[in-house]
Amino acid sequence: MKYISTRGGGQPKSFEEVILTGLAPDGGLYVPEKLPQFSIQEIASWSTLSYQELALKVISPFVDGAIPEQDLEQLIAKSYATFRHDDIAPLVKTGSNEWILELFHGPTLAFKDFALQFLGNLLDYTLEKRQQKVVIMGATSGDTGSAAIEGCRRCNNIDIFILHPHERVSEVQRRQMTTVRADNIHNIAMHGNFDDCQNMVKASFSDQSFLPDGRQLVAVNSINWARIMAQIVYYFWASLKLGGPDQAVSFSVPTGNFGDIFAGYLAHKMGLPIKRLVIATNQNDILHRCISDNDHTTRPLEQSLAPSMDIMISSNFERLLFDLYDRDGAAITQLMRDAKVGSMQLSESALTDARQLFSSFRCDDKGMVDLIRETHQEVDYLLDPHTAIGLAAARVCRTDCHTPMVTLATAHPAKFPDAVKAAGYPRDPELPEHLADLFEREEWFTTLDNDPLAVQAFIANNISV
Ligand SMILES: *Cc1c(COP(=O)(O)O)cnc(C)c1O
Repeated sequence: MKYISTRGGGQPKSFEEVILTGLAPDGGLYVPEKLPQFSIQEIASWSTLSYQELALKVISPFVDGAIPEQDLEQLIAKSYATFRHDDIAPLVKTGSNEWILELFHGPTLAFKDFALQFLGNLLDYTLEKRQQKVVIMGATSGDTGSAAIEGCRRCNNIDIFILHPHERVSEVQRRQMTTVRADNIHNIAMHGNFDDCQNMVKASFSDQSFLPDGRQLVAVNSINWARIMAQIVYYFWASLKLGGPDQAVSFSVPTGNFGDIFAGYLAHKMGLPIKRLVIATNQNDILHRCISDNDHTTRPLEQSLAPSMDIMISSNFERLLFDLYDRDGAAITQLMRDAKVGSMQLSESALTDARQLFSSFRCDDKGMVDLIRETHQEVDYLLDPHTAIGLAAARVCRTDCHTPMVTLATAHPAKFPDAVKAAGYPRDPELPEHLADLFEREEWFTTLDNDPLAVQAFIANNISV
């Protein structure tokens, strides 16, 4: 299996090459040259598999021999052994044919663990084989950083540097990063906002001369193909639990950078019967405006109570556009240029195609808080703010009552106490046992100025030999 850039440039790359980098050199994102296809009979035969066994079926064709099957099986087993629920991704019923897929039973209580536990193991295995070491550099507004740190804390061949905006991430999120103590883990609290952190990372990727010879930067945000790949699995999993593949299922996905829902789109393209994919956004609603009104104008960022969905532009949307434009790299290059200067218009045919599968809805803080309160009162279930936005969208965009509607629960409510308390919950929602003493643990981080020389020197000086 080869991987190509959404901007059409460069030669096709191997699986190993794409997981060990960030963007393609032409600025595009890597996608498989051809998607694996599964028949309905084959999918049906997986109905009794464990989550890990199913993951092996779904992931194998993408890896396509780059890792021997037995080793891949072990990597998957190791990655999901850290989850605290036997089902890995359990389903909970909240209404008539309405379900929540709980994706927060991993070490950091957000769905990002599904991809990052696996990515850490996958990278370390690949690097060991190649006798190579790399540097992971990433910016986080919260969930990505802690999931990446947890995913890499035991990796011998990776040094990881995570930048978060100093004093601008929630205390739970900061502590989930800064209380992890390992020689290869470095938290940088940078003066500035999340955009400043992201720009620092981008600039460092484009000129890596500050690194010692033989080292390269690897991205852990959702532009990394392996993250998307690992997320395809739970769409198959949920469907098989709810009568699939004979019964089509719909999914509502709390969306920021479009990585999670893009994995659902791939599951559909690979043969899984999915009726609707609902793009749920908060007040940062560029994707909702794009799907409903063909309005993809960038607007200033609005801070919301569902901060992991606070985005101006969704990076993975480019991967969908690539398909909607019949994989025409030149067309995507032009569209992305338009998007960057403020406005991109989709062609009628691209929009029509997108609407055949995707619906969208915007839910602001008030709607979200109301739904947390109602759901807690009515069915005694505590939603996190991102999941609440997903559920609100699921209810509005539902086409019929026969198709199971699954909302992806992307985080545990205890990660976002502000939203939960705004909904009238009388106290901080309780952290699971393994994090119960989070607020008593010691923290380790370094505060640096928003200055490339300072940040890059810090990295260069702290890379292991
Ligand atoms: C990252 C994140 C999202 C957004 O996921 P994307 O793949 O960026 O669309 C939603 N909810 C939570 C809790 C997250 O951490």
